[in-house]
Amino acid sequence: MKNIVILATGGTIAGVSSSITDTANYQPAILPIEAITKDLTEPLRNIAHISSEQIAQIDSAEMTHEIWFTLAGRINALLSSPQIDGVVVTHGTDTLEETAYFLNLVVRSNKPVVVVGAMRPASALSSDGPMNLYNAIILAASREASGKGVLVTLNNSINSSREVTKTNTSLQDSFKAPELGYLGYLIEGEPHFYREPTRKHTYRSEFILDGLSGLPPVEIIYGHVGNLSNLAQAAVDSGVKGLVYAGLGNGNMSKMMKETFMGIQAQGVVVVRSTRVSSGIVTCNGAVNDDLSNFIVSDTLNPQKSSILLALALSKTTDIPTIQRMFWEY
Ligand code: GLU
Repeated sequence: MKNIVILATGGTIAGVSSSITDTANYQPAILPIEAITKDLTEPLRNIAHISSEQIAQIDSAEMTHEIWFTLAGRINALLSSPQIDGVVVTHGTDTLEETAYFLNLVVRSNKPVVVVGAMRPASALSSDGPMNLYNAIILAASREASGKGVLVTLNNSINSSREVTKTNTSLQDSFKAPELGYLGYLIEGEPHFYREPTRKHTYRSEFILDGLSGLPPVEIIYGHVGNLSNLAQAAVDSGVKGLVYAGLGNGNMSKMMKETFMGIQAQGVVVVRSTRVSSGIVTCNGAVNDDLSNFIVSDTLNPQKSSILLALALSKTTDIPTIQRMFWEY
């Protein structure tokens, strides 16, 4: 028997609607975690002993760095105990990928950590929450999940937190790693892995939260026809230490935006070129000469995950080559 702890944060998996057919108009973060796990004790009786803690009860739009620090601290404390074999985090799907990737960088253990949510509220016909949570506990209790970084499961799939993203606003089959694919499946209570993450994570990560009281503020500027440069400058004026540009194509930008970003760099703010495109590498020294203009490229990290790695990087250094090295390694 494995000992698995569930840390609950709210979301649709704890959501309730007034009608069982309502899957869009409902209130997330209503049910306490005990109400969601009560039917799982029996099917898990030979696999895992579960206990739970309510860390937050929020719509994941309300997720904060403070809650991330609490969550990561609690996970690190739990997993340092030989009595605990794995942790499951329940989460709203809107920012699930961000919390999962943050934990992937700051949890210091090779024991399984699985982040799970649901696309339909607990009260809906064919709610996906109970099966997703059951699968998450199975995964957290499995030998196969250890050493693979923070994992995400919904809809019977296993994804790496680095690559997974929410691809559909409403369908249950929403969480995918576009082009790179699932790590595996969870079928009939068994994890089946076919690939594993190649980037540094968790027990091999250099990012430590101990001694940090928060993360440096970072903003994302979205690239589009008609970009106004004053938005990026306004972010800098508000005190951000880093900017991520959700760029065009291969992180490309107009001459005017390039001048704006270079002016911002001269003010000591670090700028990462990411992309608004859903797949592919943002390459170094393409149309933009990064060596001359001091941009960092995001590799395949999407803008929201780039902002997390950038904030953690800025908590250690402002050295451009060092931060670029981190973007190639994590
Ligand atoms: N917007 C809510 C949240 O992120 C619900 C999304 C979900 O869990 O599917 O918490």
